[in-house]
Amino acid sequence: MVGVSLNGRRVEVREGSTLLQAAESAGLSIPTLCYHPAVAGGGTCRVCLVEEEGSGRLVTACDTRAEEGMAVRLDTDRVKEARRTMLELIFSAHPFHCEVCESNNSCELKKIASREGISGRELPFSQDYRPVVDANPFYLRDLSKCISCGLCVRACQEVQGVGAYEMKGSGAQAHPAASMDSPVDLSVCEFCGLCVSLCPVGALIAKPPLHRGGEDRAVVTTCPYCGVGCCMELLVRDGSITGVRAGVPASVNGYSLCVKGRFGLDFVDHPDRLTRPLLRRDGELVEVSWDEALDEVTRRLSAVVEESGPDAVAFLSSAKTTNEENYLLQKFARAVVGTNNIDHCARL
Ligand code: SF4
Ligand code: SF4
Ligand code: SF4
Repeated sequence: MVGVSLNGRRVEVREGSTLLQAAESAGLSIPTLCYHPAVAGGGTCRVCLVEEEGSGRLVTACDTRAEEGMAVRLDTDRVKEARRTMLELIFSAHPFHCEVCESNNSCELKKIASREGISGRELPFSQDYRPVVDANPFYLRDLSKCISCGLCVRACQEVQGVGAYEMKGSGAQAHPAASMDSPVDLSVCEFCGLCVSLCPVGALIAKPPLHRGGEDRAVVTTCPYCGVGCCMELLVRDGSITGVRAGVPASVNGYSLCVKGRFGLDFVDHPDRLTRPLLRRDGELVEVSWDEALDEVTRRLSAVVEESGPDAVAFLSSAKTTNEENYLLQKFARAVVGTNNIDHCARL
């Protein structure tokens, strides 16, 4: 552990922690746009500047290691002035379209600016026009709103291991681009959506039908698509899923999901989805209650077992269900029906 002084208060953190992590562990807030706990590094937006006591140096808290005996101040006049200048520079290349921006309610830039008392453009606007790119079924890219924080590039390279993007250009021209500036749907992008979920502004925007509007509650659950069993939060409004969020503490997948988990759960509310059991009667499939359907399954299973013995029955389970459901099925096969004929699609 190392001890640092933050605003005169001694804080102990693990060796190797940054000043930002030290502040967070002490419940102190330092604004940042380019840092995310899922991704290493940062230091590009320079909004998290703090002042080192004694030397008076301004250092970025997100990538400066906390050293034993270090003392910093988080909110001196110099820090506030520098932070304000950084935000004004960002706004000088950022369109003020908040009212019609999909990220209006979640935009980190807007939240930090309003906390710092910046409500309008103080420097002249200077940016090349960049059209919205709608080149895949999952997300839009509106690089006119990009603040060149590089989070998407680092997340794709470091967390996903894909490397679909790199930063091109410098200064106000810096922007994430696929190789040779090719369209993202022709790149190696796997459409996992991690970059979209981390973008602090409205430059990467998930497309409907999911990821729209606010939620009245969030439900932690397991992705139903495969045996990895990623943990996620479903954002729910009026009983319908409005969005999917990863990053549940201690989850197997951290902030990552694949394209199915992130963008594929709209099937839950799809009108074509079967929501009631169907039973074939006189060659026609008819809707029945769960009690009727289960009674029919029991009757037919019992008839087979009675006529040919329990080993005439076999059960196949699925990687798309949870461990608990798989456990229950083998219990049912062995303890209720009396057969060890139970297998799982993951072994096929
Ligand atoms: S969607 Fe996933 S794979 Fe594609 S660029 Fe973003 S992080 Fe990389
Ligand atoms: S697209 Fe978003 S995450 Fe990527 S550099 Fe721009 S602002 Fe940052
Ligand atoms: S998000 Fe993708 S990898 Fe994770 S459980 Fe769902 S389908 Fe599997």
